[in-house]
Amino acid sequence: MRRKIVVGNWKMNKTVAESTELATAVIAALGDGCSGCEAGIAPTYPALDAVGRALDGSGIALVAQNCHYEDDGAYTGEVSTGMLKAVGCTYVIIGHSERRQYFGETDETVNLRIKKVLASGMKVILCVGETLAEREEGVTGTVVSRQVTGGLKGVADITDLVIAYEPVWAIGTGKTASSDQAQEVHRLIRDTVKGMYGTEVSEAVRIQYGGSVKASNAEELFAMPDIDGGLIGGASLNAADFAAIVKAGC
Ligand code: PEP
Repeated sequence: MRRKIVVGNWKMNKTVAESTELATAVIAALGDGCSGCEAGIAPTYPALDAVGRALDGSGIALVAQNCHYEDDGAYTGEVSTGMLKAVGCTYVIIGHSERRQYFGETDETVNLRIKKVLASGMKVILCVGETLAEREEGVTGTVVSRQVTGGLKGVADITDLVIAYEPVWAIGTGKTASSDQAQEVHRLIRDTVKGMYGTEVSEAVRIQYGGSVKASNAEELFAMPDIDGGLIGGASLNAADFAAIVKAGC
């Protein structure tokens, strides 16, 4: 039985003070929480330390939105895995479509980052997903499989890796993939993992759905056999909504 995982990606939103306030509100809204669903929060880099302190003892994981694949050096604007680990991060989101779209992230750089995060002892959330044009061309399966195989090239062990299927056309647009559409691609991703690592690993790997998940649709999506939780953007900026989505995974 795979434990569901719901992570809030706050993207480039909230000051440090606002982030701390929101994290505290999420803890309150979750109340006793639930053991059936792992929860995580990915604030901006400047807010990681303060949010980490606010989350201390709550059981909610501190998640980074990205990292660099070098240890240190002349990489202006970048942050290393060592720095993220030192501040208490346990997961790093890698290959988000906004990183691929606006910052030139490729399957090759995604792969380098994944290897670095896993070597550091943190866990990875690998994002994959097709654009609207790719879906309309009928190449969703090809694109998503390529992102999975490219991202995981040479990665021997994916015990500490979660995959997030996020159709680009559903991110921040209010257009959610239907539960059947999402399930179809989640199955395809699991089959791709099976081809690379075998049945046992493919049945164990968790695959989150992301793309306009809300409290009102989370339960239906999470009920699908291959959907193991969600990566939540907009709705994670409201404590009550995010808590309701986490509870949908309980
Ligand atoms: C995301 O960016 O990971 C995401 C899923 O955003 P939203 O929930 O706002 O569509």
